[in-house]
Amino acid sequence: MDTPPLPETFEYPCPRCHAGVLKPRELTYFTALGDELVVVPGFPAWVCDICGYVEYDQRALGWLYTLLSPPMQHRRRQSPPSSAAGLEK
Ligand SMILES: [Zn+2]
Repeated sequence: MDTPPLPETFEYPCPRCHAGVLKPRELTYFTALGDELVVVPGFPAWVCDICGYVEYDQRALGWLYTLLSPPMQHRRRQSPPSSAAGLEK
């Protein structure tokens, strides 16, 4: 039996070539945290099937940086009392 595809299949038009679509993939994400190199395997990302453009999942990035933030820098800035919850930069 074939494994059914993921129930939620998202596709985004590619912002670079406008011909392909971005499809969910799991990549290894590299980032620098101070002097440390942080490697996150299986990181959710979007990859264009035409030009190979890669965009990492924004929600996952937010989650990652929340995890990586040292407590000293983890103080939240005062967020505006608007209803733009979850959209802070
Ligand atoms: Zn593309």
